[in-house]
Amino acid sequence: KKRILSGIQPSGPLTLGNYVGALRNWVELQKTDEYECFFMLADMHTITVRQTPKDFRKNAMDLLALFLACGLDPEKSPIFFQSHVPAHAQLSWVLTCNTYMGELSRMTQFKDKSRKHSGNINAGLFTYPSLMAADILLYQADLVPVGEDQKQHLELTRDLANRFNNAYSETFKVPEGYIPKVGARIMSLQDPSQKMSKSDPNENGYILMLDDPDVIVRKIKRAVTDSGSDVCRGENKAGIENLMNIYSAVTGMSLDEIERNFAGKGYGDFKNAVAESVAEALRPIQKRYHDLMANKDYLEQVYRRGAEIASRTAGKTLSKVYRKVGFIQM
Ligand code: ATP
Ligand code: MG
Repeated sequence: KKRILSGIQPSGPLTLGNYVGALRNWVELQKTDEYECFFMLADMHTITVRQTPKDFRKNAMDLLALFLACGLDPEKSPIFFQSHVPAHAQLSWVLTCNTYMGELSRMTQFKDKSRKHSGNINAGLFTYPSLMAADILLYQADLVPVGEDQKQHLELTRDLANRFNNAYSETFKVPEGYIPKVGARIMSLQDPSQKMSKSDPNENGYILMLDDPDVIVRKIKRAVTDSGSDVCRGENKAGIENLMNIYSAVTGMSLDEIERNFAGKGYGDFKNAVAESVAEALRPIQKRYHDLMANKDYLEQVYRRGAEIASRTAGKTLSKVYRKVGFIQM
């Protein structure tokens, strides 16, 4: 079986984009039984940007509960916090010592993030890609689902794997990117040229997985559209197209069908339909989320067990690496 490592940072409450573009696909992926999956809550990456500990803890627990609420099965695949598996930090150090400053300086995400967080351009932000490489290489992952923004980091991971293999003998599987078959990119409701993102300072730009139905209605009503009135794709239609993609993602209707169904109906009706179907899709997940949050013991059991299983696999890779670089073995 091919192995897949998937991860999300608990850097904020999850958006509809995270659901449609990541979580939902992971659930399907796990259901196929074609892959051996590892699901990581990438909390160590999150602290590259300063977090308020209380909010950070809440986001991390919410993320775990949402993983489960969406249908990920912890009996089939480990679901774990990165910080609970020390091998991530350990391998990351070895890899950092095999990564060139020049390579890291070329990472566009570093450049973007240093602009965005100019008050805190810490070394972790810079070496983030070698931690990400460690995440992937520890599990000898064949495939890694990555969005556009992570492609460059995956390329570096491959380079690091090859570099280490060549320098010390075959150690790491060289991973490939995995592009899910379905999964539209959801754009910001306020600026359809930007992707919907949980770190967007404008909360009208995103729908959260835990938003109440009335909040969803309000945000979708406020979503920017064009001055026209036809629900269709086309020139200058990015706003309405985004809503069509959202509608399509939650109803399974094709864009052609949507255009046909809403011919002559105007934006108001369409927005109501979108809001209703999004709320509908999220309702059962929110219900399960609330049930899970009332059962902290169970959540703890899940992440403890996840960390145990993940540590076993990760530990094997780390021991090999430690031996190969020449550390004295204990
Ligand atoms: P941040 O703003 O902190 O980077 P994010 O919302 O971009 O947060 P990530 O943690 O970077 O979320 O990404 C988690 C997963 O969700 C990734 O697999 C990513 O491809 C997917 N994803 C994020 N935003 C969208 C979106 N708008 N549409 C589709 N998929 C998305
Ligand atoms: Mg992102």
